Amino acid sequence: MAKMYLSGKVGVVTGASRGIGRAVAKALAASGADVMINYVSRAEDALAVAAEIESMGRRAVLFQADVSRPDEANNLIENALSSFGRLDILVNNAGITRDALLLRMKDEDWDAVVNVNLRGAFNCTRAAARPMVKARWGRIINISSVIGLMGNAGQANYAAAKAGLIGFTKAAARELGPRNITVNAVAPGFIRTEMTAGLPEGVKERLSERIILGRLGEPEEVAEVVVFLAGDAARYITGQVLSVDGGMVL
Ligand code: NAP
Repeated sequence: MAKMYLSGKVGVVTGASRGIGRAVAKALAASGADVMINYVSRAEDALAVAAEIESMGRRAVLFQADVSRPDEANNLIENALSSFGRLDILVNNAGITRDALLLRMKDEDWDAVVNVNLRGAFNCTRAAARPMVKARWGRIINISSVIGLMGNAGQANYAAAKAGLIGFTKAAARELGPRNITVNAVAPGFIRTEMTAGLPEGVKERLSERIILGRLGEPEEVAEVVVFLAGDAARYITGQVLSVDGGMVL
C-alpha cells in the first residue's frame, strides 16, 4: 500500500467529540495517523468518533480532560504518550463561547472562555512540547478564529482569547522552531457546528453577509487545512495564521 501523508504519526486533538475537532480527528486518521480523542462531557459522542476511526484501520484512544486545568491537560498528554509511545501532532481545538455585551459580561463568562480557549492551549502545548523537543519533530496547530482578527460585538471574551492564541502561536513558533517543531494557527470563519447553530438569527445573518464565497464552511474544510499543516508539505511554514473563512476577513 502507498504510504499515506501522516503514516506512523500520532495526533492529540482536544475537543474531538464533535464539530471541527471531530472532523480533524477523522481527517488525521484518514491520512494515516493514530489519534487521541479528548472530550470533556460528551463521552458517547467521543466514543462514536473513536469507532469511526477504528473502522478506518487506525487506533483511537479516548481521554476525558478539561484542558483548562493544567493537571488534566498534563494527564491527557501523558496518556497519549503511554498509549501510543510517541506524540507528533497536537491540535488545540477545544473551545467554548459565553457571549454577552461587555457591560453585562460576568467575571465567570470572561474567565471560562479565556481559560478553555487560551489557557487550555497553553496547558496542552507546554505538556506536549517536552516529548516533541526530545524527538526533534512536532506539529502544533491552534484553532483560533476570524473573531480574534476582527472582533465581534458580544464576544469580547472570545475575541480576546482567540487573538491571544495568535500571539501565543507566534511566541511558541519562535521558541520551538529551532527544535524542528512548527506552530501555526488556523482561523476558521463561520463553520456549521453546534457552536454556531446557537447564534441569534440576526448575528448569523450579519456574519453570513461578509462571506465572499456566499456560504457557511463545513468542519471538513477546516480539517483538511489542519492535515496539511500537520504533515511534510507544510514543513517550512511556522508562526502563521491561515484563515479558512470563505474570504470573510481580507
Ligand atoms: P463545538 O461544536 O461546540 O465543540 C466544542 C468541542 O470542545 C467539544 O468537543 C467539547 O467537548 C470540547 N470542549 C469544550 N470545553 C472543553 C474543555 N474545557 N476541555 C476539553 N474539551 C472541551 O465547537 P466547534 O464549532 O467545533 O469549535 C471548535 C473550535 O473551533 C473552537 O476552538 C472554536 O472556538 C473554533 N472555531 C469555531 C468556529 C465555528 O464557526 N464553528 C469558527 C471559528 C473558530 P464535549 O463534547 O465533551 O463537550
